[in-house]
Amino acid sequence: MSGKDYYKILELEKGASKEDIKKSFRRLAHKYHPDKGGDEAKFKELSEAYSILSDDKKRAEYDTYGQTFGGGAPGGFGQGGFGFGDGEGGIEFDLGDIFGAFTGGRGRRVSRGSDISVDITLSFEEAAFGVDRKLIITKQGTCKECKGSGARKDTTYITCDKCNGKGKIHDVKKSILGSFATVRDCDKCIGKGEMPKETCKNCKGSGVLRAPEEITVKIPSGIENGEMIRLSGYGEAITSGIAGDLYVRVHVTPHKELKKEGINLRMDLNIKLTDALLGAEHTINSLEGELKVKVPAGVSSGEILRLKGKGISSHNQGKGDLLVRIVIKTPEKLSRKAKKLIEDLKNEGV
Ligand SMILES: [Zn+2]
Ligand SMILES: [Zn+2]
Repeated sequence: MSGKDYYKILELEKGASKEDIKKSFRRLAHKYHPDKGGDEAKFKELSEAYSILSDDKKRAEYDTYGQTFGGGAPGGFGQGGFGFGDGEGGIEFDLGDIFGAFTGGRGRRVSRGSDISVDITLSFEEAAFGVDRKLIITKQGTCKECKGSGARKDTTYITCDKCNGKGKIHDVKKSILGSFATVRDCDKCIGKGEMPKETCKNCKGSGVLRAPEEITVKIPSGIENGEMIRLSGYGEAITSGIAGDLYVRVHVTPHKELKKEGINLRMDLNIKLTDALLGAEHTINSLEGELKVKVPAGVSSGEILRLKGKGISSHNQGKGDLLVRIVIKTPEKLSRKAKKLIEDLKNEGV
């Protein structure tokens, strides 16, 4: 708030009279009226300046300190009315009402269709590698026949009789600042000013149609369970507006052996005691198929073998590793012969 020169904004000198302030505001408010092709930001600034300088107490504070204190920020007065206590026969006007007239003009507000959300379930592999998943979604979509225009092919256009081809409907709103013309889109031609002589039979002229639509969703590699993909503009279409968005929530089925940790994969490998002692080669099922793993002699239970680059390829983090944790399975039962051999080993100090 501070630093703004409210006098300059209202094109006034510092000791301007209350009458001058009012006159200047009225003149400039007309000039910058947003619905007359003016400048909404500028208009708000004017209103802010006026709300301070028209209030004796706030003006005194502003003149002294260059800002105002308490009573809420200047410019935040849109809700309340305030009065011209003098002159004009004590006429009061409600600013909320005037702002309503300025900003309530439709036209500038683009209508938007609803968002849709769907859930999909992916296998562990699909989530790891990424996949193109086809979805069939029944929704309000753009009519294929007329591509959303609502017009029959090769039809001629006629001028809208409600707005005389202007596409806008003007209303007049009276306020202390004078009469303001508010403008809104013509509801008959939806702001276009003209209408097709013959409407599209497929969508009955609405340009949108409820139908099943096939949508291909590109699932990036390495997507996590619970992540959401947003497809902008794939939601419900709407006549003369923009379509909503489609949200796809991804559920990933867990893998029997592999666990995902970011871009790395983890798994356990059960090996025999003798494999741990002598070393061995094991075949494991990685995401990319069978892989041979060399288990070094003397490996301990819990030790991790890292297979570089055998993890998940992420679209933005490169490629992860496969971490294989060694689990030594001690035999539960021993044959008489095995027991004898192990006792020999014990005697060897193993
Ligand atoms: Zn019209
Ligand atoms: Zn159509």
